[in-house]
Amino acid sequence: MYTQTPAFQEVIENEHAVTPAPAKAVKAKKKLVRRGDRDNSQLVRRSYQAAFLLLNAWLGGIFYFWVRGLETGTAATVADPPAGVEGWLPIAGLMNLKYFVLTGHVPAIHPAAMFLLITFLAMSVLLRKAFCSWLCPIGTISEYLALLGKKLFGRNFRIWRWLDIPLRGLKYLLLGFFVWAISSMSATAIASFMQSDYGVVAGVKMLNFFRFLGETGLIVLGFLVLASVFVQNFWCRYLCPYGALLGFASLLSPLRIRREPEPCIDCAKCAKVCPSNLPVDQLVTIKSAECTGCLECVAICPAEGALHLALPKISKISSSKPPRRIPAWAMAAGVAVLFFGIVGYAKGVGLWDSHIPAAAYRQLVPHANAARHPMPGDSEISR
Ligand code: SF4
Ligand code: SF4
Repeated sequence: MYTQTPAFQEVIENEHAVTPAPAKAVKAKKKLVRRGDRDNSQLVRRSYQAAFLLLNAWLGGIFYFWVRGLETGTAATVADPPAGVEGWLPIAGLMNLKYFVLTGHVPAIHPAAMFLLITFLAMSVLLRKAFCSWLCPIGTISEYLALLGKKLFGRNFRIWRWLDIPLRGLKYLLLGFFVWAISSMSATAIASFMQSDYGVVAGVKMLNFFRFLGETGLIVLGFLVLASVFVQNFWCRYLCPYGALLGFASLLSPLRIRREPEPCIDCAKCAKVCPSNLPVDQLVTIKSAECTGCLECVAICPAEGALHLALPKISKISSSKPPRRIPAWAMAAGVAVLFFGIVGYAKGVGLWDSHIPAAAYRQLVPHANAARHPMPGDSEISR
């Protein structure tokens, strides 16, 4: 039987531990004061998603041809591979972050994986899980698969609550496994792992996984695609350990979706559109780790001043004042500033690229599939 540790349970149930709306004995129909402003947040968010998807496709294409050049021996000179693809190596990012925390030194191999993880963690701490809904290419593809499902069946399906809650725990279990595995590694062990053949070609192995997808891989991928057509954000909601980690970080975020019960007309449009199935229409503030800051709820709300992204009231003196609203453009600007700021800094000071000799690439990349994962106890990762 599935059990949850208290920490996981807290995250999962956080959405229900929000400030409840005052109970109303009889719900009188409220008069709608229609919004006067035009909400462009979803246009901007979708543009960010498209740009990031294109960026990933472009980097992936360059990386593919870089690998092919080494495999076929046609590469006259060996340039560095595009380090941006290391965003697809979140475990390496986590290991390198631990190495950096323990030693104060930026790791020599796959530092970009660490800088990208820091960027997305910073985004989560400041702007909720904005990476998931504004940038992540898998989130973007999931969103369009769900739209396809809506077109085909007129709706997306929701999994029963009794099954939904334990299923959501899966991503925390996966995260727990990776954190547990990394927590036992010392800085020396992490450095040895990164310098092993496996560590050096981790990105190539990731590419090869998709290039040479076996029968099992195809079945699993097919299932995930199909499930995402029926159930919105199936992968993100139930299985993504990266999203789980960012969800924990987002609990620190000062920003919250906030509903004002007075102007709200209880139409429930916000709850219906929420990709994380949060009961936005029944709460005053959304504190859940599942909220991605997509602002879809705010965009669809028809009532003036009823729903917004806001900073919390921090003191009793300020509690009489309305909460400080954060416009969508500030969210968009925050995502861009953090991404270009941290990545630009790492590039600018020369910490972005791995320091791997061309000869090592020539030798290892064509035989990447033969590189074996170092096991605990192997001399190369022993403490
Ligand atoms: S729709 Fe609103 S509550 Fe739901 S995930 Fe997006 S921002 Fe959060
Ligand atoms: S969309 Fe949500 S917040 Fe806006 S009026 Fe309807 S129930 Fe209230």
